[in-house]
Amino acid sequence: MADVKLQGVAKAYGETTILQGVDLEIRDGEFMVFVGPSGCGKSTLLRVIAGLEDITRGELSIGGRVVNDVPPAERGIAMVFQSYALYPHMNLYDNMAFGLQLAKVPKGEIDRAVRQAARVLHIEHLLDRKPRDLSGGQRQRVAIGRAIVRQPQVFLFDEPLSNLDTALRVRMRYEFAKLHQDLKTTMVYVTHDQVEAMTLADRIAVLSAGRLEQVGAPLGLYEHPANLFVARFIGSPEMNVLDATLESADALGAAVRLADGTRLRCAVDATGAAPGAPVKLGLRPEHLKQAAEDAAQAIEVRVTFVEPLGGTTYAYCEHASAEARTLTCQLDGQVLPRAGQALRLAVQEDRAYLFDADGRAFARHSAAGRA
Ligand code: ADP
Repeated sequence: MADVKLQGVAKAYGETTILQGVDLEIRDGEFMVFVGPSGCGKSTLLRVIAGLEDITRGELSIGGRVVNDVPPAERGIAMVFQSYALYPHMNLYDNMAFGLQLAKVPKGEIDRAVRQAARVLHIEHLLDRKPRDLSGGQRQRVAIGRAIVRQPQVFLFDEPLSNLDTALRVRMRYEFAKLHQDLKTTMVYVTHDQVEAMTLADRIAVLSAGRLEQVGAPLGLYEHPANLFVARFIGSPEMNVLDATLESADALGAAVRLADGTRLRCAVDATGAAPGAPVKLGLRPEHLKQAAEDAAQAIEVRVTFVEPLGGTTYAYCEHASAEARTLTCQLDGQVLPRAGQALRLAVQEDRAYLFDADGRAFARHSAAGRA
């Protein structure tokens, strides 16, 4: 087990900078997930930790040892790729044993390690088979098994589930969580899927364009995103963003006005901003429900499209202040509005998010799930 420390880690290919000086401490035994849109540099960051890419600037240490110039094989890490990279002509046993055989580990020790990894991953009965005789999920397990037998200090996973179908992804997600519980080894996991990030991580690092936007516990990021980018990226469906004007702000909260004149209170500290300033109001789809008669505050929308999923109904609605005039709300399954219908949606003061014109979040008063 080991911690991983990055200080000002930058990576450039010629003129193109991919990582812009990343500072991050991954704690010993932690499950850290790197998440962000395609091309933001997550894989590069993982490959830098693995030693598959050298660092242009900065310092990287694993378990207290600076490893900038240490080759991958001597870093105490094991990496699992999305492509599995199994040897097709070898059976599963040999696929898992191969690395240890190369390292001239005694036969008995190899056998113990392989059988124990196979037991953890529930593939003991498949050890004689070749990779071609396995399902995608089983192949992924073998790839993980090959990493486990090396008893690394840190596991690195690069989008390990992206080649699997949806049902299998969900099952394997659970298996990854369990693997971490059992092994308690430091794990760093890259994905573009925010649901995977939310469900697996002790902490999530959100990246955009080679920069760390925020690092925190999943619910901390959900409740207290530092900016609009994180607010939109964490949570599904994506947060609705509405243009608004700040009317007033005091110790208890802020009041904003929408284009149609609707006035809404938000439990945020916007005392640093001047009244009249343009702001962005964030409302999550799951917090927008049909307003009761006595709702403290609400917005009026017109339904444009409805997706009934059984347990929930997604309604896509029109509102003049919403980005692209469209707002998503997640209603109860038995609520089935018609296209064209007007809806009143309750806005709970303590469920609203507020950002300045540059997208920086105002602090929310709610104490739940702090990062
Ligand atoms: P992600 O994993 O977030 O999708 P990557 O880390 O794979 O992103 O890539 C980040 C950026 O670096 C991308 O724009 C990609 O095109 C670029 N990139 C990756 N590898 C190289 C390379 N060997 N040479 C030049 N650019 C690269």
